[in-house]
Amino acid sequence: MNTNTALVMVVEDEVQIAEILIAYLERAGFRTARAGDGDLALQLKQSLRPDLILLDLNLPKRDGFAVLSSLRQDSMIPVIVISALDQDVDKLTALRIGADDYVTKPFNPNEVVARVTAVLRRSTGHREAGLVRIGALELRSEAHEISVGAVPLSLTPSEYRLMEFLMRRPGRVFSRGDLVDACLPESEALDRTVDSHIAHIRRKLSEAGAGVELTTVRGVGYRLDPT
Ligand code: CA
Repeated sequence: MNTNTALVMVVEDEVQIAEILIAYLERAGFRTARAGDGDLALQLKQSLRPDLILLDLNLPKRDGFAVLSSLRQDSMIPVIVISALDQDVDKLTALRIGADDYVTKPFNPNEVVARVTAVLRRSTGHREAGLVRIGALELRSEAHEISVGAVPLSLTPSEYRLMEFLMRRPGRVFSRGDLVDACLPESEALDRTVDSHIAHIRRKLSEAGAGVELTTVRGVGYRLDPT
């Protein structure tokens, strides 16, 4: 797929904001569609099969979190969440439910277009029927499995959540606190709990010849890179 002929669906109830986004996207060569509420977004997703969804959180009928959860039950479609809520908790909730990226209002429309291009580029070729591939690692969310070739890694539930989160966002750095909030929310997890999980995962990746590296970014956190 040429990313610039991709169909981008803008899910936004505020007409002016939607029109600005659509104008910038079309100027960049994208095809566009618009849904003004959460229910319509899910209907149009089925009928139009967009390549990416720009999803506002505060929507009538069904909010963006509910739309995203519903989408993620059976779809790996790239979703960039847009919200006026510049709060880390919303950002992390959206990422945890499965958003690929997050933009806050007021936004620079050129930046949104750049994010759309980046997310599409990242997902194209890495995604077939719910499959994410990095190095020799393969993530199959529906099977709840991460494997090297046909050999599944033996991961604990926490290790799986951390790896799934990082595999969907390769090359991006997350702090230990981000990873606790996104992947270990039910536990009283401490930063050093993350370090301990990461150490175990690294050993398993290395033993399996996974072709990826969990890089420590000094003073910041962790990042998953192909080697
Ligand atoms: Ca709105």
